[in-house]
Amino acid sequence: MSHQITTLKDLDSRLSLTDNERAWHESAVSMPLGISEYYLSLIDPSDPADPIRRQAVPTSDENCARGWLRPASAEISPTRCASAGDRGQNSCSEDSQRASRCVTSGAEVSKCGRRQIDCSNEVTQGVRIMPSSELYAENNKKKSDAMAEFPCAAFESLDPLQEVLHSKGNRLIHRFRNRVAFLATDICATYCRHCFRRRFTGGLQGPATEADVEEACRYIGGHPEIREMLLTGGDPLTLERSRLEMMVSSFRKARESLVIRICTRIPVTDPGRVTPELVEVFTRHSGAPFFLMTQFNHPRELTPLSVRAVGMFIDRGIPAFNQSVLLRGVNDDPDVLDDLCNGLLFARIKPYYLFQTDLVSGTASFRVPIERGMEIERALRCRLSGLAMPSYTLDLPDGGGKVPLCGSYVDGIDGNVCTLHNPDGETRLYPAL
Ligand code: SF4
Repeated sequence: MSHQITTLKDLDSRLSLTDNERAWHESAVSMPLGISEYYLSLIDPSDPADPIRRQAVPTSDENCARGWLRPASAEISPTRCASAGDRGQNSCSEDSQRASRCVTSGAEVSKCGRRQIDCSNEVTQGVRIMPSSELYAENNKKKSDAMAEFPCAAFESLDPLQEVLHSKGNRLIHRFRNRVAFLATDICATYCRHCFRRRFTGGLQGPATEADVEEACRYIGGHPEIREMLLTGGDPLTLERSRLEMMVSSFRKARESLVIRICTRIPVTDPGRVTPELVEVFTRHSGAPFFLMTQFNHPRELTPLSVRAVGMFIDRGIPAFNQSVLLRGVNDDPDVLDDLCNGLLFARIKPYYLFQTDLVSGTASFRVPIERGMEIERALRCRLSGLAMPSYTLDLPDGGGKVPLCGSYVDGIDGNVCTLHNPDGETRLYPAL
């Protein structure tokens, strides 16, 4: 891997940090700092709000220390009400006398156990562990009341997608029936400050071992329903070629028909690492196809070097798909995403997903309100071709799966008449039969 900036001193000498950026180093509790020389070179040092800088330079907004201590599957639940003396009781005459203000949202916060949620420092208090989805469903009503009242980041956790709960061994996650994710390494060329897997990324565990790979192969061998693997991390393309080769050939042996997605940001953050020899680690294996899954979030990341890196895979028969994350201050603007998606298409990369930022502790400053996200999605749908249009999607917490956020264009069906509206808002009729 090429040289990485990892210290406050080095970073400050290159970018002249803001107070908010410097403050991260005083109480950093999350992912380490790590920016490749190449990615740093894309940053405009004179612009503190530069979209590339925002993705790579940590700020104190991440330092949600108590959020980091919060268990992965914490469930919101009213705690014991000191006055009513009953957990979960829905009325308490003491409420009005015990109210205070949330320092983040300004919303009124009850100190009574009825809705004991403190939005300060983006941390939920009054939580208890409820690992099962049935119990999650049980509490939905209480949760929606709380969400309505406290729209700040009180619902974040370290592992909102419950990957830990779905782990099968050291590095394998089996969350969806027909596919698994294998965490090849926790190392990345640049640590993205919005990373949804930050509980693991940069955590000094290093590359998966042969024993980890064997364990994963045994599991896959015993589960014929598994059709696809996401080779992910961290970034698998930071691995030494020999180790990557060991993994790919082992997985191919375990299941010849296994479709493998190579999930990587290397073409974005350190494209010089992609060489014909690296691509050959994959192309020398026949059988099921490989797919390259990239994460370009801003059109300025589409440089000649990055486009060439992806092109090396495409030229050797590995198609490329892009999964962007909708990020406040980076790409929450239809003009920016229009440029990005058309640029991707021109580079032969299919815009696949535009993800709502997951509810991961320390990422609240990146989150775009869903209503605004849907506005952006509608604007893009008017401008982009179907091929250039990504699917705006959120990954539901607690393993609930992916849900498209495109709204419905069907207003109703009456007999043989289907009433629809198009992205421009015009009402049209279409035969329903
Ligand atoms: S490259 Fe991927 S795994 Fe690594 S920090 Fe960025 S988003 Fe997370």
